[in-house]
Amino acid sequence: YPKTISKDIDLAFAAGADAIFIPCEDEIFPKNENKIEYQKASEDLSKTLCGISRKGHFDGVCTVVYRLIEIVQPKAIFLGEKDWQQLLIIKEMVVRHKIKVAIKSIDTQRDIDGVPFSSRNNLLLKDEREKLKFFSAELFHAKQIFDQTKNISLKKIIKRLKDKDILIEYLEHVNAFNLKRSTSKMNITMLAGAIKCGNTRLIDHVFLMKRNPIIAIDGPAGSGKSTVSKLIAKKLKFIFLDTGAMYRALSWYLIEKKINYENRKELSSCLSNISITFKSVDGSKQNVIINNHNVTEKIRTQEISSIVSSIASIKEVREFLVTEQRKIGETGGLVAEGRDIGSKVFPNAELKIFLTATINERARRRKNELEAMGYGTINFEKLKNEIEQRDFDDSNREISPLVKSKTAIEIISDGYSINEIVEKILEIYLEIIPKELHL
Ligand code: C5P
Repeated sequence: YPKTISKDIDLAFAAGADAIFIPCEDEIFPKNENKIEYQKASEDLSKTLCGISRKGHFDGVCTVVYRLIEIVQPKAIFLGEKDWQQLLIIKEMVVRHKIKVAIKSIDTQRDIDGVPFSSRNNLLLKDEREKLKFFSAELFHAKQIFDQTKNISLKKIIKRLKDKDILIEYLEHVNAFNLKRSTSKMNITMLAGAIKCGNTRLIDHVFLMKRNPIIAIDGPAGSGKSTVSKLIAKKLKFIFLDTGAMYRALSWYLIEKKINYENRKELSSCLSNISITFKSVDGSKQNVIINNHNVTEKIRTQEISSIVSSIASIKEVREFLVTEQRKIGETGGLVAEGRDIGSKVFPNAELKIFLTATINERARRRKNELEAMGYGTINFEKLKNEIEQRDFDDSNREISPLVKSKTAIEIISDGYSINEIVEKILEIYLEIIPKELHL
């Protein structure tokens, strides 16, 4: 492997480094082997792509990186997305060992001819470099076709590469996060390959996305979901979808129009004529409109809060609103909040957050909120009981109850400011989505 230490030192100082740590081999692997904790890379992530031909390679990577973390005790590690599989494997190891270090990824840097930078490129002869250039261009061409057709043909790409006498080690279309073979249900995928140019093995990939990303934020009443979701949506220029407001608006309508919703026939015929829309005002507020009634304020009353959970537990109501919500989220670019977003509405959302807080904290926040809205002095204990009742009803209903989805990240917001929570979620989101897909 070409080691370019002195060039690396120059580059690091030019980029603003204060000090550089370059351990010798003995320091990383002391002679007394007992001191070394050999690491195993995640089976699932390392048995595919580069792991097939490079047996034990990722175990070695994990062992070295673990050792480096032990010695340096860093706050953050910066890794290139060019080695995406390695990045996922190191992230998994850090989570598995509960190591407190942030993994920050850097997008793939490319030369003017489109070839990703790598010290290995120095080993290439002119015609080998041309082959690598052709390979990278093929991946980008496939991405262009995918953007239009949502399809790629591995066979066609393989044929074109072979026609150019390019030796392919692998070419795969996989889920970008678990590296399993791509299926039609997956949103963010990766077309990745390794080729041999002369004696040099080279890798490259492109990310493919069917729709823009979705962030699902679920949690109990008063956990701060709305405020946090709204701010995140604004920062990312995403749509903000308050699904609770849809259940509330529908509840208001059923009561206002005196619909006997226990009668399923009457309810169904009413639902077929319902239209709920959100209208943004001044770029910050969102009005909720149901069949031409602006109900933005009316849906926040105690009367609606006390009835909404029972209406939200009706099968027909849920089916209708879930369909509406999915229509809004069809093209993605959405922060949706509610109770069943990660578990039911958008189960393949790129990021799922379960935002909660202790009952006292949530009741305190709701009390302040309602009083600020002009509802007079609110009785804390009564409000707390109502929220507890609503939590119970939402968590115990038969259809789509409030649950923490298996893959959701739980955040308990007691003691944190809204901005801190927003920043935390944004940081997690921005590290999940490959940099080249950031909008
Ligand atoms: O979030 P918010 O408190 O406005 O939601 C009001 C009610 O609507 C919840 O208590 C719950 O009963 C219902 N809801 C739901 N599923 C969602 C969002 C809200 O059942 N996705």
